[in-house]
Amino acid sequence: MSELVFFSGTMDCGKSTLALQIVHNRASRGLQAVIFTKDDRAGEGKLSSRLGLVTDAVEAVAGMDLYAHLVALISRGGRADFVVVDEAQFLAPEQIDQLARAVDELDVDVYAFGIATDFRTRLFPGSQRLIELADRIEALQVEALCWCGSRATHNARTVGGQMVVEGAQVVVGDVSQQDETGYEVLCRRHHRRRMTAASAGAAALSPDVLPVPGG
Ligand SMILES: [Zn+2]
Repeated sequence: MSELVFFSGTMDCGKSTLALQIVHNRASRGLQAVIFTKDDRAGEGKLSSRLGLVTDAVEAVAGMDLYAHLVALISRGGRADFVVVDEAQFLAPEQIDQLARAVDELDVDVYAFGIATDFRTRLFPGSQRLIELADRIEALQVEALCWCGSRATHNARTVGGQMVVEGAQVVVGDVSQQDETGYEVLCRRHHRRRMTAASAGAAALSPDVLPVPGG
């Protein structure tokens, strides 16, 4: 039985690395992947990992029917032994339905990798649909850590290092950016308190929180 599996994790947990690893492992057994991605940091039609590995992928643009794409590929004599989807949170819900249809009607495994929730802790529409339809959900256990050392479970959006909670669901940025819009993974406690590494560092240096002599 083929299955639709949703591998979910935070931004910095190594999802794309695992996606590439699955592609590599099955390729070494003679199986050929069709790789979809959307808005990868390396650019259109690329699946890249933070460790620097990059491979070509099919950009799942808005309005694209992923099931029809696979059917057309197969009818041209192409191979789709299994499907890997990265940045699956950015897909439209109907594209997730198309992937489920591919599992059921084309008998291919689909491995979708994505972030479950956005910087406001709300589910991305694509991730919500994956949770609704997946045969299996795997929470990735690659340990991404909050600055405090706890397990990072939430994605924060930052501007100049300060956490923001307003704005569009999707804004291009990366966890390594310091100045403009960036992202940082936090534990839930510090996400709730809006304490990023930068604001925690500033608080530690602030005279108001130093112990008062004799106090
Ligand atoms: Zn923390």
